[in-house]
Amino acid sequence: MTLTSRQEIAIPSFLGRSKGLLIDGRWTPALSRQKIAAINPATGETITHIAAGEAADVDLAVRAARRAFEGPWSRSTPYDRQRLLMRVHDVIESHFDELALIETLDMGAPLSRTRQMKIWASQSIMFYASQTACNGAETHDNSIPGRILTMSFKAPIGVIGGITAWNGPLVGLWWLVGATLATGCTLVLKPAEDASLSVLRVAELLCEAGVPDGVINVVTGFGSTAGAALAGHDDVDRIAFTGSVETGRRIVSASVSNLKRIQLELGGKSPDVVFADADLDQAVPGAAMGVFGNAGQICTAGTRVFVQRSIQSEFVERANAFAQGLKVGNGLDSGVQIGPLISQKQLDRVLGYVKIGSEEGARLASGGRRLLGPLQSGYFVEPTVFDQVQNDMTIAREEIFGPVMSVIGFDDEDEALRLANATPFGLAGGVWTRNASTAMRMAQGIKSGTVFVNCYGPRDPSVGYGGYKLSGYGWKGGPDHVDSFLYKKAVYMNIA
Ligand code: NAD
Repeated sequence: MTLTSRQEIAIPSFLGRSKGLLIDGRWTPALSRQKIAAINPATGETITHIAAGEAADVDLAVRAARRAFEGPWSRSTPYDRQRLLMRVHDVIESHFDELALIETLDMGAPLSRTRQMKIWASQSIMFYASQTACNGAETHDNSIPGRILTMSFKAPIGVIGGITAWNGPLVGLWWLVGATLATGCTLVLKPAEDASLSVLRVAELLCEAGVPDGVINVVTGFGSTAGAALAGHDDVDRIAFTGSVETGRRIVSASVSNLKRIQLELGGKSPDVVFADADLDQAVPGAAMGVFGNAGQICTAGTRVFVQRSIQSEFVERANAFAQGLKVGNGLDSGVQIGPLISQKQLDRVLGYVKIGSEEGARLASGGRRLLGPLQSGYFVEPTVFDQVQNDMTIAREEIFGPVMSVIGFDDEDEALRLANATPFGLAGGVWTRNASTAMRMAQGIKSGTVFVNCYGPRDPSVGYGGYKLSGYGWKGGPDHVDSFLYKKAVYMNIA
């Protein structure tokens, strides 16, 4: 479908239907009956309401997930799970235009972006479908006297608690749903209160695809209530968390009572290093979209752009032109490349950082303002470039989670590497150069879970990524991720 005008878009009937929590395969109202408004960040309008689940609702969902884990699902074979994932794949693919539209309305990313997620979702589900024979059984030599056979294998860990962020729910949920279905675990998912709609619709479609009741449950609600209850629940075996460092610390504290396993995907302040020999026709748009994509609300965003001093002014001039040429607007409109920020709170936060940047002496080279006129009821901010930034300024140290680029000069490779690594985060990094040796040394030297060379941002679900330092731990995607939904056991069998 080619998008021509906003009027041609039919609003999904899902938004008009009464929704609740999805527990044990059924829509269930929150026990408190409280609701949260789902706001379209492009217009500030309430598009529907979601249930405000709390601790008692989380408890019901965890019980349902535990029953499902102990029931017939626990006897499912790799073939059963693979077939199920293939059905899920087909159902999701055939509904993807609707899902993309829901995502655009709920969190603002342009349709051109949310529709592209179809291929990602397809690749993710297919990858997990390929991972269902995952028990990894092995026999081992041993030096035990007598006739003792030793073997090891892996078993599903149990009930997974998933707590996710708002910046890409339609992408992020597959890490959880895919690995849960591949391994035979069960899941209680608490999406972000600011963007839960696509997750709810996917959960409904999963039931249609034949996922057994109780295997995938969704409890919407606030972090301090529903999220905290899930993180602290004693019958949850593993938490997969995506969000801020601050909340990540709370998740770790909440895990201590039953020592649940944790995977943390947290924030970043990633370096993107542009050497003087880089092809600027590639590097400028690449580095710029590494910051401005998804309105800067990407954990791996390369927001500290280190540019070799000999090309700094040319780079900034070109980055300004690029930023000013981007079409910012309602993601339903054709040609829009950058949508709004998720909320008024996030808009205030981003504009606050712009003010701090100028106050601390960085040069505002372009952007920096809220967009008004026809966009004034939404949460739009201009793509922003700061030049003459020092690595110790607030805008270069703290994660802004908005479309704000900080350009920092450097003279040589050693300085670039030292500055790139002078951060408590370690999520991603980028290098732009025509010199393969420079690229390789930088890829080895940047202390982060991912490094991009002459590109910024591509990811493959069968490879995955992970954090380092304050960006968290636990690999997401690829076989290692599947493995982390399993636990290993050894068997000593006396066959005398
Ligand atoms: P956040 O930490 O405020 O919220 C994330 C989730 O945690 C939400 O579902 C929220 O309801 C829940 N939550 C909040 N308080 C909680 C508590 N006390 N106990 C349990 N759950 C709680 O993060 P955010 O502002 O929604 O998202 C932005 C952050 O997420 C950024 O830092 C970004 O870098 C990070 N992020 C990281 C990745 C990654 O893969 N590394 C991906 C996307 C976003």
